[in-house]
Amino acid sequence: MSDFIESAKNLVNSAVSRTGWEAQKQMRVRGKQGEIDKLLEQRQKLLDDLALTAMNLYQQGALTDSRLSRLCASVLELDHDVKTREGQLQDIKNEAYSPDQYGSVQTPDYTPPPVNPTPSANAGTSQQAGASAGAQSLCPNCGQPIRANALYCRNCGAKLR
Ligand SMILES: [Zn+2]
Repeated sequence: MSDFIESAKNLVNSAVSRTGWEAQKQMRVRGKQGEIDKLLEQRQKLLDDLALTAMNLYQQGALTDSRLSRLCASVLELDHDVKTREGQLQDIKNEAYSPDQYGSVQTPDYTPPPVNPTPSANAGTSQQAGASAGAQSLCPNCGQPIRANALYCRNCGAKLR
């Protein structure tokens, strides 16, 4: 055991300059990596500012670039989707166990949505009627299909409601 420690010490002594150099190199690497991390952090903050500024302009109707407007619309749509799911998540968390819960799911009252909905008699009279019938709505601004209950057009960024 002591032989091992002795030989290890000798090894350390013989390699001290190399070890010192390696340690210094490690310090320089860590220092430089720290500088890079700080710069990337600042960069991310600026990007966040950039996004916030664009979002504010978009919501004020002052964003003129259509591609930026599209991105802002998509962000707002996602925010809306997140809110919806957060509500659903809360509903699930609030669910209380009841023994006949699973039986009630199978009640004959439940009818799945029709696979091929027949066109309603007043189809085409209004966009809202079409949307509620499950038909694909079109953006009044650019004419591209929009999702049901969409708040913003993902194609042109127009506010839909
Ligand atoms: Zn549109």
